[in-house]
Amino acid sequence: MQTMQVKNDFPILDKVLYGKYPLVYLDNAATTQKPRQVVEAMTEEYYNVNANVHRGVHFLSQQATELHEASRETVRRFLNARSTAEIVFTRGTTESINLVASCFGWAFMKEGDEVILSEMEHHSNIVSWQLLQARQGIRLRVIPITDDGLLNMDEYEKLFNERTRIVSVTHVSNVLGTINPVRDIIRIAHEHGVPVLIDGAQSTPHMPIDVQELDCDFFAFSGHKIYGPTGIGVLYGKEDWLDRIPPYMGGGEMIKNVSFEHTTFGELPFKFEAGTPDYIASTGLARALDYIRSIGFEYIEAHERDLTTYAMQRMMEIEGMHIFGPKDITHHDAVISFLVGTIHHLDMGTLLDRLGIAIRTGHHCAEPLMHRLGIEGTCRASFALYNTREDIDALVDAIHRISQMF
Ligand code: PMP
Repeated sequence: MQTMQVKNDFPILDKVLYGKYPLVYLDNAATTQKPRQVVEAMTEEYYNVNANVHRGVHFLSQQATELHEASRETVRRFLNARSTAEIVFTRGTTESINLVASCFGWAFMKEGDEVILSEMEHHSNIVSWQLLQARQGIRLRVIPITDDGLLNMDEYEKLFNERTRIVSVTHVSNVLGTINPVRDIIRIAHEHGVPVLIDGAQSTPHMPIDVQELDCDFFAFSGHKIYGPTGIGVLYGKEDWLDRIPPYMGGGEMIKNVSFEHTTFGELPFKFEAGTPDYIASTGLARALDYIRSIGFEYIEAHERDLTTYAMQRMMEIEGMHIFGPKDITHHDAVISFLVGTIHHLDMGTLLDRLGIAIRTGHHCAEPLMHRLGIEGTCRASFALYNTREDIDALVDAIHRISQMF
C-alpha cells in the first residue's frame, strides 16, 4: 500500500495554507482527517435514506435502521466483541467514560470505595470520577509514572485493597505516547476481583483491539480519532456488566413500557441509548472501520512505527530538543511531545502554523500529568496512516528555522 495512494483519499491534505505552505497535518491525536469514503457514505445516506431509526414501519425508516444496526455489527467485528448487545453508541470516549463512572458508580460504589486511575489520564477519565466523588464520596487512587513515562506497575499492585471497585486507565497516553501494558493491568485487577475500563481513544487508530483477548470489562473509543465522524463513539461492555448497571439517560428508544407508576427498560444495548441516535454518524464510523480494514493494521503499525522512529531520530538532531515519554519505541505510539530549549510551546505551535504545520500545544487535557512533569505544556506532533517521512522532514526543518529565530 503506497502512502501517496492513501493520501489521495483525504482531500483536505491537498490544502495550501497562507497562499504557499502545503498543509502538514500532525494533530492526529486530537482528531484525524476523514477519507472520501466516510464523507460520501454519510452524504449518500442524508440524500437517499434519511429517516429516524427503530420506530418507523415505513421503507426509509427500515432502511436507516438496517444501516445503523449493520454499523453496530461492523464495530462488534472491529473490537471482536461477543455480541452487538455489548456495543453501545455514545458521543465519544468522554461520554463512554462518564456513562461507566455514573452508572457503575451508582450501582456498585459507596462512600469510601475506590477507583484506580493513573497519573497519565486525560481529564475525561479524571473529572468523571471526581463528579462521582462529589456525589457519593468515593476515593481516587492514582498509579504513579516512572521518569521514563511508564506506569509504575509495582505501585499499581500496592493500590488494591478491599475498597477497590474498579480500575480505569488509558491504553495509550495522548501526551507521552506510552503504550500501557493493559493485559497485565487487567489480569492483576481480575486477580483482585476488580473490573477494568480501558480508554482506547488513542489506541484504536493505531493497533488491532480484541476485547475478548484483552478480557477488559469496558472499552471506550471515539469515532473522530479513527478517521470517522465527530459526535459518535463507542462503549463496549461485557454483557453481564451492562445488564447489571442502570441506564445513563432516560427517554425514547431505551424503554420497553412506560407508565407514571413503572417503567421497564429496553434490551441491551438500547437501554443505554436514550433519544434519537446519530445514525448518520454510525454509518460514517462503520465506513471508517471498513477503510482501516481495507488498509490493514499490519501496514498501519509498520508505517506509523517507521514514522515515530524516524521522527524521534530526526528531532533529536535539534539543539535543545527534549522529547517526553518512553525512549524505547516498543512502548511508544505515534505521539511525540516535545519542548525546545526555552521556547514556549505556544510560540512554537503558532510559528509552525505559519509554515503550514499543524501540531497541538498546551496541557492536552492532562493537567495532573503536566504537574508531574513540572511543566505547563508541551508541543505535540501526532501521526496517522497518511503521514509521510516528508511531513517529518518539514517539521524538523521548520523547528530548526524557528529555533534560530530565538
Ligand atoms: N481519552 C484520551 C486518551 C484522549 O486522547 C481523548 C481525546 N483527546 C479523550 C479521552 C476524549 O475523547 P473525546 O473528546 O473524543 O471524547
